Amino acid sequence: MKLVRIAEYELEIDYDKTLSYYQNLPLIGEEDHCECLYCKNYGLTPSIFPNIIKKTTK
Ligand SMILES: [Zn+2]
Repeated sequence: MKLVRIAEYELEIDYDKTLSYYQNLPLIGEEDHCECLYCKNYGLTPSIFPNIIKKTTK
């Protein structure tokens, strides 16, 4: 397990299992995920995420 802090939250996660799960799924914003406008809009937002969020996703 790995402890991840995001703002005032502390999450205990199985990093490798979570990573392998999401690596096999289409990304939000990709057509295979969902074609609705909400998902397409969300797919455009990672470039404006705060650095603390970007660091926890690598
Ligand atoms: Zn959708």
